[in-house]
Amino acid sequence: QRPVPSDIVISRSCVPKPIDCLASEIGLLSYEVELYGKTKAKVQLETIDRLRAQADGKYVVVTGITPTPLGEGKSTTTIGLVQALGAHLNRNVFACVRQPSQGPTFGIKGGAAGGGYSQVIPMEEFNLHLTGDIHAITAANNLVAAAIDARMFHEATQSDKALFNRLVPLSGGQRKFSPVQINRLKKLGIEKTDPSTLTEEEITRFARLDIDPESITWQRVLDTNDRFLRKITVGQSPTEKGHTRTAQFDITVASEIMAVLALTSSMEDMRQRLAKMVVATSRSGVPITTEDLGVCGALTVLMKDAIKPNLMQTLEGNPVFVHAGPFANIAHGNSSILADKIALKLVGPDGFVVTEAGFGADIGMEKFFNIKCRYSGLRPHVVVLVATVRALKMHGGGPTVSGLLLTGNTLCFVFQNLELVEKGCSNLRKQVENAKHFGVPVVVAVNAFKTDSEAELQLICKLAKEAGAFDAVPCTHWADGGAGAVELGKAVQKAAEAPSKFSFLYDIEIRIIAQKIYGADDIELLPDAQHKVDLYTKQGFGNLPICMAKTHLSLSHDAEKKGVPTGFVLPIRDIRASVGAGFLYPLVGTMPTIPGLPTRPCFYDIDLDPLTGEVIGLF
Ligand code: ADP
Repeated sequence: QRPVPSDIVISRSCVPKPIDCLASEIGLLSYEVELYGKTKAKVQLETIDRLRAQADGKYVVVTGITPTPLGEGKSTTTIGLVQALGAHLNRNVFACVRQPSQGPTFGIKGGAAGGGYSQVIPMEEFNLHLTGDIHAITAANNLVAAAIDARMFHEATQSDKALFNRLVPLSGGQRKFSPVQINRLKKLGIEKTDPSTLTEEEITRFARLDIDPESITWQRVLDTNDRFLRKITVGQSPTEKGHTRTAQFDITVASEIMAVLALTSSMEDMRQRLAKMVVATSRSGVPITTEDLGVCGALTVLMKDAIKPNLMQTLEGNPVFVHAGPFANIAHGNSSILADKIALKLVGPDGFVVTEAGFGADIGMEKFFNIKCRYSGLRPHVVVLVATVRALKMHGGGPTVSGLLLTGNTLCFVFQNLELVEKGCSNLRKQVENAKHFGVPVVVAVNAFKTDSEAELQLICKLAKEAGAFDAVPCTHWADGGAGAVELGKAVQKAAEAPSKFSFLYDIEIRIIAQKIYGADDIELLPDAQHKVDLYTKQGFGNLPICMAKTHLSLSHDAEKKGVPTGFVLPIRDIRASVGAGFLYPLVGTMPTIPGLPTRPCFYDIDLDPLTGEVIGLF
């Protein structure tokens, strides 16, 4: 239909297949599928075991150039490509995408179901709540935060003996350690299981975690862009007897538990990762874990359903797994390994699984390769790099999109300007190069907007091929659905047969990412970061992969620097260790770990229609 209606109108105009029918079409057995209403289902992990002998399909990752704040259509292209490969090129297909965060949905960017005629449907189910995974993560994360402060409070207000007696209460006249307490005893080198045999010194060591409040790295989380929670004081009620402390909130989707969900390989592995998470250091320098707090079993219980991928569908009826979270700038921002693994088995050797890595190739794709593929052992066959005329014009020196929104000056986007596009292709060239560092063929998808000229689209394709892309094609899946991405689908099929020689970029080095991917001259470790390097090296976490927290709006740490910035030193403000998820988390520049709301957030438009009961205003 022309003009293309709004995303929500398109989503509503299509009646989805009952999700149990889709599940059986793609070879899932009825007992492997847990229905959440008519359009969503969770898929049990046992499916991987049943299909163990099945060969995997081809694995495609969709990334992009450095985007404008509005996004350049990676999710839309992921869905459009799957629709093209499935409905138009007759391949078995699966899209694996991330569950959107409520932060951007109500903030500035809107939902993440794709757009136009390339969407996951129903988009309001997808964009809000889904099956509650993010809520489960918020609950689990904040249970740990509550456990830390409560434990410090109880240790400060009770004697060793009283503390021990409460931690190991009498039951039927006897004290007995719980399994998690026995693990803590082992960690302390106390080989005893009968509480009555502990010496006084052992009782003290067991009962007191002696957390150094200054060392707490675990933060409370919320899935809302609430900037006033970036720095808070907790414990101000008189009941906490003056035990106040400065703390902060992060956004849920950037939490370590979200990363655990994305990177885990099984329920047992998740349990172990949830137990290994380091929340602080004791006054004597020992890392304090969620297992020491006794909370890891409860976390596993809270997360037991979230670990199962969520099945939905595209507008053209292809299967989609929605699992784990976005935010590749401050998190690793990739969908889950488990969803990819199940999907690769379900499509079989001739099929395609298309997954998306958040933001530009310097961020989400780098983390996809260096973190996700390192843990999954999976090797992608093709990288699809999404580019748009509007973002390239911005990189070429045109106004930034946020500037345009303020001034209403859209002329440079409406009229052809080959010079700006050509200049801006420096960013495309650098991102193609970044993808090629990993040895995988790159297909550039030029996501066409109605204001783009044919000459602009062709120029980008020509320059992309000159930059070393395997192929480059314009596509119109936003306006035309799968039919608009058939050429892209064919290019991806060809690239998947091309020889590829995958290799990791680095051997765990912040400097290598900064220099090779971002183009920095060097890095500068600011005092807090230097202190953490020393601490984590001493604690044995020095060799974990790196998950940089950096702005997605520039290759550098400065969001205003477009194109390919040079001559800068990347400042590392602090480093956190996500030991359970399995990475170190350097904070670059002033990057906040919870976004804020703009003056005019999306929630102004969102409401429930009193007549129909339908959600309105989502896009
Ligand atoms: P990304 O995944 O790169 O952040 P999205 O796929 O979420 O980007 O797209 C961002 C927004 O842009 C969505 O609202 C989508 O509907 C819109 N969009 C994407 N491609 C086009 C296009 N070719 N023409 C018009 N709007 C588009």
